[in-house]
Parts: sequence; C-alpha cells; structure tokens
Amino acid sequence: MFFSKLLIPTLKEIPADTDIISAKLMIRSGMVRKLASGLYEFLPLGTRVLKKIENILRQEMNIVGGQEIMLPLISPKELWEETGRWNIYGKELFRFKDRKNTEFCLTPTAEEPVTDLIRKEIKSYKQLPLMLYQFRTKFRDEIRPRFGVMRSKEFLMKDAYSFHTNEADLEKYYNIMINAYKNIFIKCGFKFRVVEATSGAIGGSFSHEFMILADNGEEEIVWCSCGYGANVEKAETLMIEQVKEKKISLEELFTPNISAVKDVAKFLKLLPSKFIKTMVYMADNVPVVVLVRGDHEVNEIKLQSILTANEIFIANEQTVVSITKAPVGFVGPLRLKNVKVIADLSVVEIPNAVTGANKKDYHIKNVNYGRDYKADIVADVRKVIRGDICPRCKKEDLKFSRGIEIGHVFKLGTKYSKSMSATYIDSKGTKNLIVMGCYGIGITRMLAAAIEQFHDDDGIIWPLCIAPFEVLIIPVNYFDAKIKETTDKICKELLFEGVDVLIDDRDERTGIKFKDADLIGIPYRIAIGEKNLSNGCVELKARNDCKGGGKLLRVEDVVSKILKLLK
Ligand code: ATP
Ligand code: MG
Repeated sequence: MFFSKLLIPTLKEIPADTDIISAKLMIRSGMVRKLASGLYEFLPLGTRVLKKIENILRQEMNIVGGQEIMLPLISPKELWEETGRWNIYGKELFRFKDRKNTEFCLTPTAEEPVTDLIRKEIKSYKQLPLMLYQFRTKFRDEIRPRFGVMRSKEFLMKDAYSFHTNEADLEKYYNIMINAYKNIFIKCGFKFRVVEATSGAIGGSFSHEFMILADNGEEEIVWCSCGYGANVEKAETLMIEQVKEKKISLEELFTPNISAVKDVAKFLKLLPSKFIKTMVYMADNVPVVVLVRGDHEVNEIKLQSILTANEIFIANEQTVVSITKAPVGFVGPLRLKNVKVIADLSVVEIPNAVTGANKKDYHIKNVNYGRDYKADIVADVRKVIRGDICPRCKKEDLKFSRGIEIGHVFKLGTKYSKSMSATYIDSKGTKNLIVMGCYGIGITRMLAAAIEQFHDDDGIIWPLCIAPFEVLIIPVNYFDAKIKETTDKICKELLFEGVDVLIDDRDERTGIKFKDADLIGIPYRIAIGEKNLSNGCVELKARNDCKGGGKLLRVEDVVSKILKLLK
C-alpha cells in the first residue's frame, strides 16, 4: 500500500476540542475525524486497527467454542418491554418510530434480541451449552459523550452470550471466558486488572470488569496483592472496630449554625469518625434513613441493591423535615418513627457517638447503638476509602488505581430467560429456564485505551498485534530509480510473507516522513537512503525503541530480520 494513495490526513497541530491524549493522537494521526459530539468517522488507519482487534477477538471466541452471528441493530419495543428495560434504560436508549408508527430502539446491547432468538430455536438440553457472539455497533445516548471514541454515542462492541442448562455450567464457562479475555489483553501487552463490578442496567448476579490501568481513566478501582480487585462502586468494606468505652448518658449540645460534620467536629474538638452521619434518601419514592460514620460516604449502588430499589436519590429538604422534624444538618437517628433505617456496619460500633439532635442548632452526644437507636438493616452500605483493609485477606490496606473499562462479563442467570420465557426440556422431559451469561468488549474503546497506554511525546506506539501496518518503508526519495527498486523489492518479499507493509512514497521532506512515522506508530520502520544504499544497507528502527537509533542491515538480510522480529 502507498501512503500517497491512502486517506491518512495527519495533522501537526493539536486539535482544539479534544480532551485526552488518545483522542488527540487519533485525530492527529488521521485515524478518525469527528462528525458531531460522540460520533466519529473511522478513516483507513483507524478501520485497519478495528479489524485487527476484531480478528484477535474472533480467534479467541472461536477457541472457546463461540459461533459468530449478526443480529439486527434495530429492535422492536415489545421485546424491551418484556424485560422492563424499555423503561429502565431511560434516556440512554435511542428510540424512534417507523412509518407505520411502530416503536423501535437502536440496540445499546443485545440481550433481548438474542434471548428472543434462543427461545424460538432452542428446545432441548441436547442443544446446550451454546455461545453466540457478534461484532456490531451499539448505540447509547450518553449523557456526556467524551474522551473521543471512549465514550461515544455509537461504538463497536464484541458482544457474546452463553446459554446453559444450569448454574454450575455457567460458572465453569464464565471462568473460561474470563481467561479468554485475559489472553486477549495479554496478547496486546496491556497492563490491566480484572475487578469485581456492579451490573448496572444489564443486571444479573455477578460481574467482572477488565480495566486497562491509566492515570486519567474514568473508573477507580481498588486491589490487593492477595488477588482481590473491585471497582470502587462495588468494593466491599469491613466493619471497623473501635476502642470500647463505657456508655455514658446522652447530652444535647448547642451548635449554632454549625451543621457539616467536619465543622461540628472542629467545634467540639472531636474526630469525624466519632460522628453518625444521617442521610435521608428516596427509594422508589419511599423515604429511608441511612447512617454512616462521619468520615464515610453512602455508596448509593450498595444502598439500591440492599433495598432492591429501581431508583434512589437524596430526599429534598421538605421530606427530611417531615421525617426528622429538623432541617438538614441537624438530623440524627434518635426517635425516628415510621421510616426504615439502614446503618452501616461501622456506624453501630461507634461508642458514645455524636449526631444531629433532630432539633435546629443542636447535636447530641454519647449516642449508642441498641440503647439510643436501632436500625432495621445493618449492612455494608458505605464507599471504600483509603486506609480500608482488604475484605478478602484482611491483612493489607487496599491500593487505589485508575482505569479504563474495556470489557465487562456478567453472570445473568435466569434474569432474561425468566422475563422472556426462554426454556429447554431436560432429559426427564421437564421444562426449565435457560441459564445465561453475557460478555462484552468495547472494540473502539479498546483501541483508544491502547493508545492511552502506548504512546510517547511523538505519537502512538502500536502493539504489534493491533497495529494498522506492521512495517513502514520510508524511501528517502521514491523517485530515485535505485531506491525505488530496493523499496519495491523489500516490499514485495514482505507482502509475499504475509506482512502488512506501507510505503511512504510521498514527495515530502524526509523529516516530515519520519515525524509522521512516529505519529502513526507503525512498529517497524525501514528507511532507505542513497548513502546507506551505496554501501548495500538500509536502516531498521523499532518504534518502541524510543532512544535507540536505527540499525544498519544489509539489504538482503532485512526481510529475514523483520520476519524474526514479527514472530
Ligand atoms: P460505562 O460504565 O463506561 O458506561 P458500561 O458498563 O455501560 O460502561 P457495558 O454495558 O458493560 O458498559 O458495555 C460493554 C463494553 O462496551 C464496555 O466495557 C466498554 O468497553 C464499551 N462501552 C460502553 N459504553 C461505551 C461508549 N459509550 N462508548 C464506547 N464504548 C463503550
Ligand atoms: Mg454506560
């Protein structure tokens, strides 16, 4: 392939409206262009990388017995109503009507259509287990599309769905898929972690995310050398023991206009960990009171799951006053009536705690669980914080890192087969629900994450397996007969060996060609100039060898050297 013929519109300047390095480099290297917010055009270089990623995924999915399919991108409303997700997905779902006024959505994920296919085609246990996968565009009306193709309105996903006769079989296959995903990311050389995650709108009992480690990643994870890892949204916390104290009697304290825990703590010369923070939430329109320690925060995802609520939000001032008879800032768990109270594991351990007195401008001290207040549920309902100990090994402090979620796998169980009646007949003739798993990798996001992890000041440094080309030949002057002859010969031999080669045949200064070479990041570069060629040599340089200069090689040796390197 010739550079001059390909649409690779590289840019010297940094594009103005891009927010992270991968987005800048994708535009500068001519891989993509932006059509509108969250919508990108993939040009030849970008498309080649997507296809390479697709091929790696296809290989791994086939190894674990997957069968490639293609489901429609348009999905009728009725399917999504069967599972309730027509409502649950809210504004993120792109909806439209056809000319007959029938309602549809653009698929944000494909559990509904695939379960519909399965309920029609699978009858017997003899047809199970089964794994189907596809490479299809997904559509999500993201509230804030950003970070280039990382969070876009339309993106390419590899989504896979597995179907089993029982939970144990799903469990086994779920682990096989986790290993297949690990193989893919190891192949690409990624620094990544597999972490326990929450299931969001997809649901199911258990899920893991695959996080590429990146300082500017949107996600925060915790991990421990014992092997535990979790998204902070999901990370479990343990009860924090406190030094035992003798229970003393309650005492009201005048705290005029001082309401925030840290201010009251300062005023009373106490640590925030001595406080009970009392929050009022609405869970599916019913008020609930949540108690966490003064130095902790409520984890709303945990709260939602404890209450099995569809929707959770902080109650307004009016609700708070009607329940506690006090304004926000002075509420506490004492004398609450007709409201469910959820206390965090660590809150009930605070001896002689301080909290709001349910009276304007007053706090109350020496509050003790059991004697002065009770909770309907005591559970892990807070966010993990620095200094928290690993909930698995209970030995080390958890470590915090940032990451980019590029894959997510879910044990769905019977969530979809139940609501959509997808059943099979077992060997005894009994009808059972099909047990399901689903497994997604964001291909466009994986591409961007690769650039986040592999770049330097000059441009992208592609891992070999997903590079748009493997070798770039730069003839200093392609119009010189001898240089052209050598360039063509090396190129032909490499192509014969199945190597992806690009020739920079442009009539440009060598400096510009080298700069573009660094920017687009092809792993190996062969420079062919008059002087070296007169000695029978060309120069070979690896893009990831940032400091090293090129190596001179005899013309006749360069192809075998490249083939060795590519192995
Ligand atoms: P996020 O929390 O980042 O919104 P998600 O949990 O909604 O992701 P899943 O529904 O699990 O994502 O989708 C599977 C994969 O699809 C994700 O791991 C990610 O790689 C990719 N993905 C999700 N949303 C987007 C998006 N808006 N743009 C690009 N890729 C996306
Ligand atoms: Mg999302």
